Amino acid sequence: MPQINACRFCKNPKLNRYLDLGATPLADRFLSAEQLNEPEKYYPLAVALCENCGLSQLTYTVDPKELYQEEYPYAMSLTKTGSDHYGSFAASVVKKFNLTQNDLVIDVGSNVGILLEGFKKNGTKTLGVDPAANMAKIANERGIETIADFFVPSVATGIKEKYGPAKIVVGTNVFAHIFDHHQFIEALQAVLDEKGIFIFESPSFVNLVKNLEYDTIYHEHLLYLSLKPVANFFKQFDMEVFDVESYPIHGGSFRVFISRKNNYPINESVEKYLKEEEATGIYSLPTLGEFAKKVAQNRIELMNLIHKIKEEGKTIAIISTPAKGMTLLNYCRIGPEHADFATEKSPLKIGRYTPGTRIPIVPDSELMVRKPDYAILLAWNFSNEIMKNLDEYRALGGKFIIPIPKPEIKG
Ligand SMILES: [Zn+2]
Repeated sequence: MPQINACRFCKNPKLNRYLDLGATPLADRFLSAEQLNEPEKYYPLAVALCENCGLSQLTYTVDPKELYQEEYPYAMSLTKTGSDHYGSFAASVVKKFNLTQNDLVIDVGSNVGILLEGFKKNGTKTLGVDPAANMAKIANERGIETIADFFVPSVATGIKEKYGPAKIVVGTNVFAHIFDHHQFIEALQAVLDEKGIFIFESPSFVNLVKNLEYDTIYHEHLLYLSLKPVANFFKQFDMEVFDVESYPIHGGSFRVFISRKNNYPINESVEKYLKEEEATGIYSLPTLGEFAKKVAQNRIELMNLIHKIKEEGKTIAIISTPAKGMTLLNYCRIGPEHADFATEKSPLKIGRYTPGTRIPIVPDSELMVRKPDYAILLAWNFSNEIMKNLDEYRALGGKFIIPIPKPEIKG
């Protein structure tokens, strides 16, 4: 499995590697104090373009058993921006397809069930599927029925037998995590109703390049999705993309609607989106080479800024430790010599250390106790909301460092 030798979508062997972020540990492998004495496992982190279908993808696959352990620490939508988004996602899909109480909506990678909660409120039947047992448990306790398993054909068939066919299968930020897409489609076709719809939402690769969101590249994200390769991929299975919508969440996402061929009229949004996408140059190696240069430049500028602050004798902390932040810290090599601590609200992370860079993680409240001069915002996609919540810190003169797309200080 590890180093891939063909495109994950079209099996073409011609892959062009254009971005190398070095080797990093897994982004969610937060270390306990005892683990600081043990060596960490590092894996290559590089992205290649498929010359045939245009899919950008990681060149290396970490064994899913290593990637997804029981203690997956990402509980979805702790932020208001996140829960608002998923609430309106559900409402808009229910309205768009006139869903009723007879329609089953399955969320693949349902986490603690935030999105399904929205569907439930809007009156549909719901079922979650998530391999992380601890997340599935929380979801079930919250009243969102969830199966703790991978979405594979045997599981999908079992669902259909027990619950009937699904009108909608959704996957948010999950399609890029799937290891075997061919198997995923088989599961999808097994559970979907004849006119059933697969809807996935994912950060778009166009925005990743445009906004230099290179930190969203990590081992869980095997693919960096754009519409052209996705549309071509589904054609192999007699399915088609019939609509696409854009949303600002996670630095710019797109929502794609797919069904069996000839079920729904193809919306003009599809052609329009494909044209705009092509025009950005994300399928051209020179454009991607430019992108890689800007990534290297970002690291230089960020580290120059941090070194300048340290020379002035000022202190720096880190606000929250999302997975993408771990790519940034490791790639830029920001460690405890730069940042004294990182704050978190997740009890799964507090008391641990950031993977690779080994910065101690403390509760959110420590920010106001230790009052660092600067705080690096790793969750830049929620920076406005986070800064607003930290008014008290700002009032004390605390400043924020926003690392991406261009390192800047905000007071
Ligand atoms: Zn391909």
